[in-house]
Amino acid sequence: MSKLVIVGTVAFDAIETPFGKTDKILGGAATFIGLAASHFNVDSSIVSVVGGDFPQEYLDLLSDKKIDISGIEIVKEGKTFFWSGLYHNDMNSRDTLATELNVLADFNPVVPVNYRDAKVVMLGNLHPLVQMSVIEQMAEKPDLIVLDTMNFWMDNALDDLLKVIKKIDVITINDEEARQLTGEYSLVVAARKIHEMGPKYVVIKKGDLLFHNDDVFYAPALPLEEVFDPTGAGDTFAGGFAGYLAGTNDFSFENMKNAVIYGSTLASFCVEKFGTERMMNMTDEEVFDRLKQFKSLTQFEIELS
Ligand code: AMP
Repeated sequence: MSKLVIVGTVAFDAIETPFGKTDKILGGAATFIGLAASHFNVDSSIVSVVGGDFPQEYLDLLSDKKIDISGIEIVKEGKTFFWSGLYHNDMNSRDTLATELNVLADFNPVVPVNYRDAKVVMLGNLHPLVQMSVIEQMAEKPDLIVLDTMNFWMDNALDDLLKVIKKIDVITINDEEARQLTGEYSLVVAARKIHEMGPKYVVIKKGDLLFHNDDVFYAPALPLEEVFDPTGAGDTFAGGFAGYLAGTNDFSFENMKNAVIYGSTLASFCVEKFGTERMMNMTDEEVFDRLKQFKSLTQFEIELS
């Protein structure tokens, strides 16, 4: 079975949307990535850190999904990373109310020895120096390194982030972040500039746009009846994308199109409930049905003569 190394936050989130509010619940980029990747035939390991306040029950939830957690360090006297966000009525834009790095501030990641030969590495959202350290610990250059990041790290650690971006194959980023990173409004021009920074493939999460030099593929976001809580959609997309590619072991542009569709499909489940709740209970049949919907949504026959 292909191995997938995932680094990112394992966190407490407190979320408020127009539909409701949560206390601290399970969240974090690596959590969503791991849950999405667990849908595929891959052996995933999460590299992260939590504090002594993190419930064993949450770790068990990840183990139950066959995710290796031996790379999640527990700092007994420390507090877990905490993020809090408030969504506006459009359910698209959000304000970050709090980002408390806590144990993440001094985190030195250790990739478990038996995962250092993984062919695919998914660098989830956290400090770029931690992402870099994970790349450096791999025994050989992985076949595919995917990176996800956000405006917080562009604001706080841009130089380190640019060094990581140079070393990766695929970046997944949202439209506003692509504009911030490049200073370009046009996403096509922004993607070209990002190619020049290193990555051969650029995924801009606006719907989902995949760029590879002059090739472009576009998958719309599935029109959903209900969007309850968008938290983690981007990470779920990235986890589905990387998980599918690791499972199929085919890193061609053509196969990346399927990976985009899988990522987008899994993200459509994530947003239906608060936090990780929906991802914990999603079945293979539900995913299959939604992939069929996706296909009929985007397929058309037109005579071009
Ligand atoms: P998304 O909605 O895909 O952007 O991801 C939301 C998740 O990212 C939440 O579960 C948070 O715990 C986590 N998160 C928020 N801010 C950060 C940050 N600065 N670094 C790493 N993870 C973060």
